[in-house]
Amino acid sequence: DVLQRIESTEPDIHAFLQVAGEQARERAQHLDANIGDAAKLGILFGIPAALKDNMCTKGVRTTAGSKILGNYIPPYNAAVVDKLAQSGTVIVGKLNMDEFAMGSSNENSAFFPTRNPWNPEYVPGGSSGGSAAAVAAGEIPFALGSDTGGSIRQPAAFCGVVGLKPTYGLVSRFGLISYASSLDQIGPITRTVEDAAVVLQAIAGHDDRDSTSANVAIPVYLDVLTGNVKGLRVAVPKEYFGEGMDPAVSEKVREAIQQLEKLGATVDEVSLPHTKYAVAAYYLLAPAEASSNLARYDGVRYGVRVDSENLIDMYKQTRSQGFGTEVKRRIMLGTYALSSGYYDAYYLRAQKTRTLIKRDFEQVFETYDVILAPTAPTTAFKIGEKVNDPLTMYLNDICTIPVNLAGIPAISVPCGVVNGLPVGLQIIGKAFDEATVLRVAHAFE
Ligand code: GLN
Repeated sequence: DVLQRIESTEPDIHAFLQVAGEQARERAQHLDANIGDAAKLGILFGIPAALKDNMCTKGVRTTAGSKILGNYIPPYNAAVVDKLAQSGTVIVGKLNMDEFAMGSSNENSAFFPTRNPWNPEYVPGGSSGGSAAAVAAGEIPFALGSDTGGSIRQPAAFCGVVGLKPTYGLVSRFGLISYASSLDQIGPITRTVEDAAVVLQAIAGHDDRDSTSANVAIPVYLDVLTGNVKGLRVAVPKEYFGEGMDPAVSEKVREAIQQLEKLGATVDEVSLPHTKYAVAAYYLLAPAEASSNLARYDGVRYGVRVDSENLIDMYKQTRSQGFGTEVKRRIMLGTYALSSGYYDAYYLRAQKTRTLIKRDFEQVFETYDVILAPTAPTTAFKIGEKVNDPLTMYLNDICTIPVNLAGIPAISVPCGVVNGLPVGLQIIGKAFDEATVLRVAHAFE
């Protein structure tokens, strides 16, 4: 069964922070007892799955990949956890991630790095690297990840699986441990586009407990997977094929685009002129929000406390020992960008840039149905290769970050292999038009 499969695969992959075997067995037995009642069978009835460890699970340790939450057992479930339960899913465990979802390689996990199932010397991507690796290694049929700047799509690309970042607001963030709240979004990591459609169906929808949750009609996603892309208008932004892109990756993506043309889509090159500012804007806005969100980890209310004689020193010790290097770097960056003397020069300017990036997309979507691009500028890199160079690490997100800044949906699907490692094709759509994104993605299967 799935637990045996995990047991035999984990020594090579290290995707799980925790396997909740006992809970999973109990839950499966409970479902078995209800199998007679057809009305109770959800669309994921009996399907095992696992969650990135930043989604709160009642009674099951939830760490966000951080030592500071190393002993945190949430008293409640994230909205997506309840939704999956209603659909019949059996959750079997919690998956490794970069600490507080900050990273692109899983090397920022406070516990251990996850390995890429295609080659254990390579990173699985991040920050949902545990989720992508577990699915790619066949440990579980699907996982949930979260995507703030690419953390579902980039690891999906690096591990050769499907990863969908929904429109901001489509999936409730209630019970998701916040990184940058205006960018964070939960989505599925699966083996096929069909599976992504089913999982999205299960987790999408309005939730009063998330004030940014959208109240929109949700289509039946499986119904749109017709294979038909005739007359589809496809835009290919030239900025996504420029400097810093591995030519072998661009080549595979271009081949995929040609394939779509053969299926009857029309393809034009377009420009998204503000793309070059996206990474800079993101690395002001995301750390700014993170510095505020992470202020709550003070040793008083959650998780680990390092005792000391006085309160201020207790805060200091707890945060110094509880947070890792990358998290501290971002808290400092964010606090600096928000400080009164620098707010206009950095935070405010980054917000204005975000608006320009959003407008670039809106303009293209006046004429086109989808945008096609690479998911990442390279295939997976070696463990250790970029850890001492945060800037190169940040630049790996150049293709995914603009999508989060604009709040729109995008999926990564496998589109070939270069030097034994998979390449991801990214399909970007209009806000709340996951149906078209999925339909186009499905045409490649
Ligand atoms: N790699 C990016 C970062 O470190 C994106 C992470 C994410 O999407 N959670 O911020």
